[in-house]
Amino acid sequence: MKILDGIKVSGEILRKLADEVSRLNLVHIHPKLAVILVGKNPASLSYIKQKQKACARTGIEWEQFDYEEDITTEKLIEKIEALNADETFHGILVQLPLPKNVYTPKVIKAIDPKKDVDGFTAYNLGKMFLSTEFEHLAPCTPKGVIRLLEYYQIPVKGSEAVVVGHSNIVGKPLSAMLLNRDATVTTCHIHTKDLASHTKRADILCVAVGKPGLITADMVKDGAAVIDIGINKKKDGSLCGDTDFDEIFKKAGYITPVPGGVGPMTVACLMENVVTATKRINNIP
Ligand code: NAP
Repeated sequence: MKILDGIKVSGEILRKLADEVSRLNLVHIHPKLAVILVGKNPASLSYIKQKQKACARTGIEWEQFDYEEDITTEKLIEKIEALNADETFHGILVQLPLPKNVYTPKVIKAIDPKKDVDGFTAYNLGKMFLSTEFEHLAPCTPKGVIRLLEYYQIPVKGSEAVVVGHSNIVGKPLSAMLLNRDATVTTCHIHTKDLASHTKRADILCVAVGKPGLITADMVKDGAAVIDIGINKKKDGSLCGDTDFDEIFKKAGYITPVPGGVGPMTVACLMENVVTATKRINNIP
């Protein structure tokens, strides 16, 4: 049994990125991320703090724009258009979720795909579907899962991969990225009949739902790689994933802890996307 250590692997990614940022600085290029935060959602504040720390570790510049909950869709779009045109910024991140009075798809659509470091625009999502060659600005969480699988040399080609959850930012793009790598992919969701019949077949089981205890040990194949993407807050304030970690630990070949698994990988891949965007904007291979 092996723990897939997202803290260790993300640390290595961040160190390499810091070297790359130093090299860019030598030619007077300073990767810079613009972060738009609306309201004071505690989870968003915590995610933003982790991203800001990663920027500090890698030398990526950070500027945050805070807005009250009652901001309109139009005002946000105005700000994004100004950031699109501002050459000092290479990445634009709108921290989700946005309040109900804001129409999120319209806001995301306003981001210049070249600066869309979250990989949420239709352009970058569409490109990602083509093949591994077009995943430059793929969404950070699926990218983080793929990096973990690569680091631990877990074979994806020819594997049975089951993804539970089909959101546009995690489940769907992750299914596509696994398919790009020649896994046989099954995507499950709330309407899937007999979830266990699918999860039991998985060599690679990725779970991104947001329901603690959804996946129990009897739903997992012996020796499987279990990637728990869920983040749930327990009553005592601590975090847990969507899988029954203690029982699955005894049976799986690999498992990600929560926290310390996919979370830090997501942040590292965001940093990677900022550096990639910076290089592409500046025509650096
Ligand atoms: P989401 O948009 O709420 O999507 C959840 C998905 O799970 C939906 O496709 C939903 O299907 C499906 N689902 C709900 N109940 C189910 C059930 N009983 N059986 C099978 N599928 C079910 O959430 P998300 O943004 O993808 O995030 C999912 C989880 O990952 C959350 O806990 C989130 O906090 C976490 N997350 C973690 C990271 C990280 O870096 N580790 C990053 C992003 C998100 P329907 O849409 O049909 O209801």
